[in-house]
Amino acid sequence: MKLYNLTRFAAAIVVAIGTSIASVSFVAAQQQFISIGTGGVTGVYYPTGGAICRLVNKDRKEHGIRCSVESTGGSIYNINTIKGGELEFGVAQSDWQYHAYHGTSRFEDNQFEGLRAVFSVHPEPVTIVARRDAGINNITDIPGTRFNIGNDGSGTLGTWEVIEEAMGWSRDDLALAAKMKSAETGSALCDNKIDGYFWLVGHPSALTHETIASCDAVIVPAVAPEIDQLIAERPYYRNATIPGGMYPGNPDDIPTFGVGATFVTSADVPDEVVYLVAKAVLANLDDFRKLHPAFANLKAEEMVSDSLSAPLHPGAIKAYKELGLIE
Ligand code: GLU
Repeated sequence: MKLYNLTRFAAAIVVAIGTSIASVSFVAAQQQFISIGTGGVTGVYYPTGGAICRLVNKDRKEHGIRCSVESTGGSIYNINTIKGGELEFGVAQSDWQYHAYHGTSRFEDNQFEGLRAVFSVHPEPVTIVARRDAGINNITDIPGTRFNIGNDGSGTLGTWEVIEEAMGWSRDDLALAAKMKSAETGSALCDNKIDGYFWLVGHPSALTHETIASCDAVIVPAVAPEIDQLIAERPYYRNATIPGGMYPGNPDDIPTFGVGATFVTSADVPDEVVYLVAKAVLANLDDFRKLHPAFANLKAEEMVSDSLSAPLHPGAIKAYKELGLIE
């Protein structure tokens, strides 16, 4: 829990200084500023960005790069903002990396061919958290409830829309379709303003933990023939399990499906910068793994290949060749 308190403290600082420096990139007196777009402060993207910056900033005196983290709306916001040149890096769900690069789904009219992969991070299963009294025992019980489907710009909302279509639901099937930011959903659930919320997130995550610790809430499965079909048809979805015992009062494994969190950039970001960032993480993976419990099982060989559908950035390729991770 210490880590989570720290991230919140860090969030306050980022909010305070973020608008003035975080999205500006310039070279001045050998210093270069880079920003990483993440997600809500109680998610896992935010501490992921923090962990990457920590390893980069450790050697700042040598390379002159100063890395900072921005709390944002999530995957789709991050990809679009990298495309606009206002962020150098971002964390994004593997399904939205795929769609942005290929110009499909939400990116049909907004393809980003310059999107480049750096590495993949933790798995992000579809996570449905519901009040125990709401009668939601599986994803199929969501229609008719007051439910948070994700904020604009989040990968969560984008993936909700895919699921909604696959299940044959319309938005009106929900008694309330809330679009709060992830950080607001835990108190809304505990205050009985919503019956449940949905997001794609690594585990353990601070918000999921906070919700379950604050009121009687459960994590429920996402199992349905329509979901099996989605997984069979699309390369970026896979079966997943949220391990039992990870959160209090939720002793059983929860079958669900999900994507991977990935770290992305633009072909316009210089090779030396991406090289330094990729190397700071992959050459120090033991340190990186200790920075968040969701990183515990990361393996270097998987991080440089799994869940990446955009091409690797040339700077990342150079780093991984040097580290002997790719040929
Ligand atoms: N996967 C989520 C999204 O893109 C963010 C999860 C997090 O903040 O850790 O919407």
